[in-house]
Amino acid sequence: MRRSARGAEPDKNTMKKPQLFTPGPTPLPPETLLAMAQPIDYHRSPASATLIADVLTKLKHVFQTENDVLCLTTSGTGAMEGAVANLLSRGDKVLVIRSGKFGERWSDICTAYGVEVIPIDVTWGESVSPSTVEARLDASPDVKAVFATLCETSTGALHDIAALAQPTQLRPTLLVVDAVSALGADDLQMDAWGVDAVVSCSQKGLMTPPGLAFAALNARAWDAAARSDLPKYYLDFQKARDAGREGSTPYTPAITLLHALQASLTLLCAEGIRNAIARHARLAQATRSAVAALGLQLFATHPANTLTSIRLPAEVDGKAFIALMREKHGITYAGGQSQLSGKIFRIAHLGWMNENDVIVAIAALERGLAEIGYEMPLGAGVAAAQEVFRR
Ligand code: PMP
Repeated sequence: MRRSARGAEPDKNTMKKPQLFTPGPTPLPPETLLAMAQPIDYHRSPASATLIADVLTKLKHVFQTENDVLCLTTSGTGAMEGAVANLLSRGDKVLVIRSGKFGERWSDICTAYGVEVIPIDVTWGESVSPSTVEARLDASPDVKAVFATLCETSTGALHDIAALAQPTQLRPTLLVVDAVSALGADDLQMDAWGVDAVVSCSQKGLMTPPGLAFAALNARAWDAAARSDLPKYYLDFQKARDAGREGSTPYTPAITLLHALQASLTLLCAEGIRNAIARHARLAQATRSAVAALGLQLFATHPANTLTSIRLPAEVDGKAFIALMREKHGITYAGGQSQLSGKIFRIAHLGWMNENDVIVAIAALERGLAEIGYEMPLGAGVAAAQEVFRR
């Protein structure tokens, strides 16, 4: 018989079943897995053109836009870099909202391209106040763009993009949003709210393996792109748009991932983006309710639907807890990143997830907490989640 992670006692749970509750990659629906098993096709064939055109059309529904959506073969950071390289020019000045690791990434990319960054630093776990951003825009009217993050995945905080778009729409300033983790889970109405550019990727709400990234630009953003003089080649958005309109890509696309994406987008479009967001809201609410019932505290003051960040009790060794859950129970939660390492853990309820998955995530959490000696009534979190679902 196998020994448990703690070594001393036999491990009765010998049939391992890995379950991912990470904010990317997220679990894949069977339709998506099967779509990747078909023979590879030539990417310039008529069938591939039909595939690419279909994927790009379906992405518009998810982005809630009539603008072209570009499909790039890269991870989410590639689309972020592409947004900087395509929208900005030498000598530009930008505002960057930094409330965690991914806001910092926006400023790192801008700095790498020689763009002047005016940071708006927000305490990790909090969300930016839109009035602070507006005041900074008043103080620096020559700012070319504001870089924001819909869900700051490192903290679980949601930013009020609709409110941020109000002042930028009235100025010649672009609002560029990283929706890498939250697209499909938290609301982002690109056209209705007047967001100028949105970037995202495949391995999160879109239920597809890592490797594809997306960008959508509105007319104002395309004007900026036409004037941009920063260096770009592989991530040239105009080339991607022109090719996309022909059901093509400038370079060899990750054709197998496009088949996977088509399958996942078919599911997402059948559900409808509004329903998908409502589902994620319900899963998040149940998770937060369970966390409270277990006497734990949320880390984010305005938590997203995408994931729930939870403070670990001071006596708990966060890294050991994450390792115990993964190695003994097959449950992968995400740990804290950078300064939050060992202090928080994150449960994603993102992508191909339903109410039963949340029950599993919470029941396993109770089991793990009990094993590390954290006092709480077993079942309290599950009951709280069930109450939310019953309502
Ligand atoms: N932005 C956000 C908000 C993210 O969550 C992530 C990935 N966790 C990224 C950017 C970077 O994406 P990738 O790792 O796919 O490059």
